Amino acid sequence: MMALHIQENVPLAPLTTFKTGGPARFFCTAKSEGELRQAIEFARSRRIPFFVLGGGSNVLIPDRGFFGLAIKNEIKVTQFIERREEVSLVAGAGENWDALVAMTVQKNLYGLENLSGIPGTVGAAPIQNIGAYGVEVADVLSHVDVFDAEEMKEKRFDVQECMFSYRNSLFKSAHGKRFIITAVGFVLKKEGQCRIHYKDLALAFNDTRENITPQKIRSAVLEIRKQKFPDLTECGTAGSFFKNPIIDEAEYLNLVSRYRELPGYPEKNGKIKIPLAWILDKVCLLKGYRKGNVGLFSNQPLVVVNYGNATTEEIINFTREVSQKVFEAAGLTIESEVRILGEIDLQFATQVIHSSS
Ligand code: NAP
Repeated sequence: MMALHIQENVPLAPLTTFKTGGPARFFCTAKSEGELRQAIEFARSRRIPFFVLGGGSNVLIPDRGFFGLAIKNEIKVTQFIERREEVSLVAGAGENWDALVAMTVQKNLYGLENLSGIPGTVGAAPIQNIGAYGVEVADVLSHVDVFDAEEMKEKRFDVQECMFSYRNSLFKSAHGKRFIITAVGFVLKKEGQCRIHYKDLALAFNDTRENITPQKIRSAVLEIRKQKFPDLTECGTAGSFFKNPIIDEAEYLNLVSRYRELPGYPEKNGKIKIPLAWILDKVCLLKGYRKGNVGLFSNQPLVVVNYGNATTEEIINFTREVSQKVFEAAGLTIESEVRILGEIDLQFATQVIHSSS
């Protein structure tokens, strides 16, 4: 086996879509499970923490950088297996998410089309259970293959074991950080029903409800996203920064008594999801709010944008201020969807180091 190429003091900002943060003390790419294993062994032998980077579209790197090993997951493979009415797809964690969606749509397969245009890698998709326009990745997933960095062996999780919920999974929890996703399995349908119940998508198909194909859904989603979300090639952002709050009915009714037009979407557990963008816009009057180099995107206030040379600290301070304003105006505690590299990762790394000693 070839020795892994470990680089030193590698800037991480260009590898993230926010374009902020300092360098990694050590850096390598892992193109196979073997290389991943070698990378983790390197970190263990030096007793340093490590973290795994995908497309860098959901992470904020501290300005001081990362004193351990950053591993860029570039495990690539795509395999389609024909079944009777379905097609099984296995994709490597380092594959580009949207390129994979485009490939499935080209084959006229149903399942991933609503998730078009989302930046990042395949491996990142199950971590936060990416979702858009009424579809979550958990809906079409069959399994997730991981490398367990604590037991140093491969494992497979089925959908139940992944503990998916709204923008959340086992892999986001402190316990789940030990599992590094290497491949994801999907079940796609040859014939299916396209989901267009979200308002923007329904509007796009207003006149033509017949013959809606995955390709047509993809084109519509890409067009809607182009109007509403910033272009990653033009400014730094990680898409939606905050999660939509999911609250009890009593809390929702209390808010509706003050804000009659507040939308609410019932969840399976009896709770109600409210669009934070509405609260930011109509209650906090923060649509387009900007402070220095950081702001809420004018077309969609859930999206935080680095307009120039913002630092990670500026972004964190800005989002804390926004959270505070939401709490003061609406009494809601909001959570970040973007992962801020820090405490939880370092705690995990320490656990890994201890368990190997
Ligand atoms: P939108 O359609 O204006 O809707 C606002 C929010 O209300 C959405 O976040 C959505 O929750 C919820 N919602 C709307 N219609 C719903 C329905 N029929 N049933 C249940 N919930 C409904 O949202 P948008 O900002 O333009 O975004 C469009 C979609 O792309 C959303 O699904 C959004 O989550 C997704 N998106 C995700 C990211 C990301 O970074 N994760 C970035 C951009 C967009 P849901 O979030 O549960 O869908």
